[in-house]
Amino acid sequence: MERIIYRRDKKDIHYSPQIMLHRASSFTSSSFTSFTSSSSVRTLVRTLRGTTARVVARRTTTMASSSDTTRATPPMVEIVQIPALSDNYVFLLRCGRTGSTAVVDTPEVTPIRRELESRKWTLTHVLNTHWHADHTGGNVELKKAFPDVHIVGPRKEKAKTPGVEKIPGIDRKVDDGDSVFVGDVELKVMDVPGHTLGHCAYHVPSAKSAFVGDCVFAAGCGRVFEGTHEQMFASITKIMSLPETTKLYCAHEYTLANIKFAKSVDGQNKDLLEREKRCKALRERNEATVPTTVGEEMRTNPFCRSGDEKIRKFLGMEEKRDVEVFARLRTMKDNF
Ligand code: ZN
Ligand code: FE
Repeated sequence: MERIIYRRDKKDIHYSPQIMLHRASSFTSSSFTSFTSSSSVRTLVRTLRGTTARVVARRTTTMASSSDTTRATPPMVEIVQIPALSDNYVFLLRCGRTGSTAVVDTPEVTPIRRELESRKWTLTHVLNTHWHADHTGGNVELKKAFPDVHIVGPRKEKAKTPGVEKIPGIDRKVDDGDSVFVGDVELKVMDVPGHTLGHCAYHVPSAKSAFVGDCVFAAGCGRVFEGTHEQMFASITKIMSLPETTKLYCAHEYTLANIKFAKSVDGQNKDLLEREKRCKALRERNEATVPTTVGEEMRTNPFCRSGDEKIRKFLGMEEKRDVEVFARLRTMKDNF
């Protein structure tokens, strides 16, 4: 089958023609003029912004990976980003082959249902990253609305009282390394404790994407509520070990506040200053700064840069271990 290749971030992303057909059926065909010619994903997003107001607030990304010729084409993965509550993001992930649709975290039901209804999608899975109410609050109501929905969450989110579930309505408890299938799309579970003891992320290799909840944020990281700094450091390191172009779907829009802190410890970082400009412009237009990428965080997020000489020197911690530098940064941010 003929493949159309768009270049982005130095690496090739391969799109199969079905994606365009699929997407074209979801949006007005005029939105896709640039997509059918050779152009970048960025251009596609810009075109969508220009033509479909609804998509401006809910950035949509469609991806599929290349496959070798001996294997069947991997299913198209569509990811829809929806703002919820004051600063949360919710994500829909849909398998283009089977129509199975998951929601990652459930801060509130209304925006999720509205998005599903407008697309005529039926929810089949809830995937929770951790037990906090702004990530699981809509579980029970969604299960009532979609009785066949399957609620998946990390096993390690354990309540003290036996028989009580920390993740409401949970059907399947998953551990590090487990696979969850949404239709034909495989998500790999990664335990990333620290923010909570059971926090997990869902990595979608075929879409070069990961849903990271409250572990890594754009230019920041989650507060360490239940775990230790060591755990949180290991969790962030684990996410940063994914390929550089991996998109990170964080659960909150905290980027500008995070950048403010980042500048206070890494003020000469040109990438960071450039990122601030870009993110400020996005927020002025009420657009999301999420998703980010592993590469972008490695360049600009102080919590991923505790090995950086300038940051260490600034803190007077040249001789300390990376994890100690991380712990200091996290404590500073808590009081910033
Ligand atoms: Zn949380
Ligand atoms: Fe949260």
